Amino acid sequence: MSREEKAVTAARLAFETGRSKCVDYRIRQLKNLQRFLIERRQDICQAIKKDLNKSEVVCELFETLGLEEELGLAIRKVKEWAAPRPVQKNLMTIADTLYIKAEPLGVVLIIGAWNYPWAVTVQPLIGAIAAGNAAVVKPSEVCVHTAKVMEDLLPLYLDNELYPVVTGGVPETQKLLGQKFDHIFYTGNSAVGKLIMEAAAKNLTPVTLELGGKSPCYIDSKCNLTIACRRVAWGKFTNCGQTCIAPDYILCEPAMQQIIIQELHKAIKEFYTDDPKTCPDYGRIINQRHFKRIMNMMQDSTIALGGDNDEEDCFIAPTVLRDVKPDAKVMQEEIFGPLLPILPIGGLDEAIRFINKGEKPLALYVFSNDKKVIQKMRDETSSGGLLANDCLVHYSVSSLPFGGVGNSGMGCYHGKHTFDQLSHLRACLIKRLRLEAVNKMRYPPHTAKKLGLARFFILKKFNFGFIGYLLLFGALALLFALLIQKCFFHR
Ligand code: NAD
Repeated sequence: MSREEKAVTAARLAFETGRSKCVDYRIRQLKNLQRFLIERRQDICQAIKKDLNKSEVVCELFETLGLEEELGLAIRKVKEWAAPRPVQKNLMTIADTLYIKAEPLGVVLIIGAWNYPWAVTVQPLIGAIAAGNAAVVKPSEVCVHTAKVMEDLLPLYLDNELYPVVTGGVPETQKLLGQKFDHIFYTGNSAVGKLIMEAAAKNLTPVTLELGGKSPCYIDSKCNLTIACRRVAWGKFTNCGQTCIAPDYILCEPAMQQIIIQELHKAIKEFYTDDPKTCPDYGRIINQRHFKRIMNMMQDSTIALGGDNDEEDCFIAPTVLRDVKPDAKVMQEEIFGPLLPILPIGGLDEAIRFINKGEKPLALYVFSNDKKVIQKMRDETSSGGLLANDCLVHYSVSSLPFGGVGNSGMGCYHGKHTFDQLSHLRACLIKRLRLEAVNKMRYPPHTAKKLGLARFFILKKFNFGFIGYLLLFGALALLFALLIQKCFFHR
């Protein structure tokens, strides 16, 4: 049996013991994870520094802070999330008990990506634990040091059998995908997303695909450009542009292009100094393969700002490209690097047409002081998330579902959304073996009269207030009395 098969088999056996279903057990595991984040902060940050040159502050701000928040929320709320959720009744079920009960799915496979390796790998794990599942965690092999810390240290804190960490690259992931899971949660690019879905289809395993794509950013003429450009520069150049929801390109009217370039220049200088290469807050490209891919994208465009690079150091300066054409290389795929193309267009309508010609993005950004512009952009486009007058921050709001649509992914997570995503929301209807007279309308022989009653009971909608309920119960009592009387008389 391979290492991967052993891990999955052990996780399934552990799940079958039923211990992960106990809500107190889940809370204990979540608290252990909380302790892991506190006690092993140094190990986590050092690995991130080696993998992506993120400073300790940046590591905490973009990787672990969000996890701490999600853990706190899950620990506080898991009992409530796992409890039966009463639902509205209709006339047919007024005397019954109706609720949704979230139940664990079983064994979940979590496949993480490298750009925010802790955030995108541990965040689904928090939801998997809270929902009572077992979970096999496969960190991205691209973040060598982080994967090693996860493999070595997480098992010291978590139930090893229920939540094993399996490291490795494509062959190991494919071995995992050959096993049967109850859910696969994948974060990464769309091409691999299709392979994941193909493998999952063999066992009819549901998937969550957190993918990427080109997230557009429309800057309207009615807008404070200094603030807008500062926020766009932050969204784009954080983590060297290697953020799934980074604004991929800017759409604006031609007359605004030069001012936008000047404002971006000011913001870049403010954040990363005149020499981003020596600035501790500016990251690096993950590896030379990605360095070459990004450099190649610039070839047929005009550089307005930046462009400096160093292959040895995987460094590419914050770079702005001007007068970019839709058929330029940089517009053919997600950039996932620190290049910011500006495409001059004729205004809002043209921007909407341009966005709608492409795949549905993961995020869509619109900057404007005019509510009508924001509403029009919202109503006439589709994307995983829509954010007006800022970048990235919707990711940090756990009450908002985070996920893509179409080519940018399927399913969503964060906060309770992760819990629900990794649960089966079971419909429960508990009847008593009484009031059989009411059911006669559905039993043969079927008659027009019974159909009329059924139509009333199923289709009639009331907005019951207190008085309404009193009247309704009175009417039902009368109806039962009549039915019972009828039964006795006709026997
Ligand atoms: P990656 O190379 O780390 O791959 C992701 C995972 O897929 C890894 O664990 C890897 O082992 C596995 N994998 C790669 N090739 C595989 C194959 N052939 N078969 C099976 N498994 C395979 O990461 P990446 O794909 O370069 O990540 C970048 C992409 O992820 C971007 O498109 C980005 O937008 C997207 N992303 C999305 C989110 C989100 O939340 N939506 C978050 C981060 C990244």
